Amino acid sequence: MYFSAFGGGLMSQLTVAKFGGTSVADHQAMLRCANIVKNRPETRVVVVSASAGVTNHLVRLSQENVSTQEREQIIAEIKAIQVNIIEQLEQPQKLLGQIEALLTELAELASQQSMQHTGQTADAIMSFGEQMSSLLFTQVLRSVGVDGERFDVRDVMATNSLYGKAVVEVDLLATQAQQKLLPKLADKVVVTQGFIGRDGLGNTTTLGRGGSDYSAALLAEALNADNLAIWTDVVGIFTTDPRITAQARAIDEISFGEAAEMATFGAKILHPATLIPAMRCNIPVFVGSSKEPERGGTRIQQTVASNPTYRSIALRREQTLVTVKSPAMLHASGFLAKVFAILAKHELSVDLITTSEISVALTFDNPTGSTQALINSTVVKELEQLCEVSVEHGLSLVAVIGNNLHQTSDLGEQIFDKVEDTVIRMICHGASPNNVCFLVPEQAANGVVEKLHDTLFV
Ligand code: ASP
Ligand code: MG
Repeated sequence: MYFSAFGGGLMSQLTVAKFGGTSVADHQAMLRCANIVKNRPETRVVVVSASAGVTNHLVRLSQENVSTQEREQIIAEIKAIQVNIIEQLEQPQKLLGQIEALLTELAELASQQSMQHTGQTADAIMSFGEQMSSLLFTQVLRSVGVDGERFDVRDVMATNSLYGKAVVEVDLLATQAQQKLLPKLADKVVVTQGFIGRDGLGNTTTLGRGGSDYSAALLAEALNADNLAIWTDVVGIFTTDPRITAQARAIDEISFGEAAEMATFGAKILHPATLIPAMRCNIPVFVGSSKEPERGGTRIQQTVASNPTYRSIALRREQTLVTVKSPAMLHASGFLAKVFAILAKHELSVDLITTSEISVALTFDNPTGSTQALINSTVVKELEQLCEVSVEHGLSLVAVIGNNLHQTSDLGEQIFDKVEDTVIRMICHGASPNNVCFLVPEQAANGVVEKLHDTLFV
């Protein structure tokens, strides 16, 4: 509940809703989202992603040495996605003009970038998907009778200048959102962009791929919202990836702690940082499908009615395991510090760690493939100055998520006995009450998840 800065009237609940790329992929999809907003009057801030596929095109445009012909082709493809939506709207001419102006600006930036690449221009280019989708979605909202107004999120989303992965200045965001955004909510539904921000120099920045969820959570925090709704293309969070087993089912309610572990350990449904602002301010998060809003979804909140030992199983592929081994580690202090100094220098973040008397095993997540290359080429050589090093690829991380797992006595029987025919390379247990995870060979991963799901979620 919050007081409107306009006229001091008491407004009811405030929900910030985010619609992902597939939810705003075309006119029909946008229309479904507009009706979701219309039917839920507490939704007064709408955060949109770029229409599906657009950001991937922009990634190519933001690279160096892209030929004129390829640039033109990509821009034509982006334009086609927008035009398909515009054609379904009233007064298409005006909107078309606005989109064309944005595309001209985009073409200029892309041409500049192909000659001389900068991170700053890359982010400016990457921002166009959300700039366009927010423009079009505002019109779609109006077409269903909702008084929507587009708002440039860059006027409030203050970040540092780490282009491509900018860090948001949360306090400044809160002040600016209270001043510039909140007063509008008294009589408008504000439509704004996920993923993008602005640095102190006035340049556009981006928060990292998939960052719109995180933007929405930050805005919910800054506006003191009562709820955050993430509308996507699945009917909530599942007990495991439904592509692995048809037995997977949607979860009605899950705690912040469990959901954060899931997001971190590979359940692709939310950007992993999304829950941080929500947890900080205790804002419940709803995840549902914009295709089937009537089917409900998953509610993520601080306290939930049931806290089962086993809630879900997440799977993350392409893990790299590095084992460092040194007899000198025996009774030595400072060895690990040296290992970590090398990793920190290369900005590699370690996922899991296990140790023995003379060796330490570390895992790395590999979402882009570049981590693997970096480890193989440089990091191993530097580590070899200190100790023996071995590197294994082709592993998957299985994370069993639930409650009180650190105090559960039958994990051996419930989990490890079930997969005894699989070679388990590493087990991590004890650090978090919410997860137990282990590495298995890539080819065994699906089978392991299926088998565990069958026994833990009967
Ligand atoms: N459009 C951005 C991306 O595709 C941000 C997002 O969709 O969350 O990564
Ligand atoms: Mg997304």
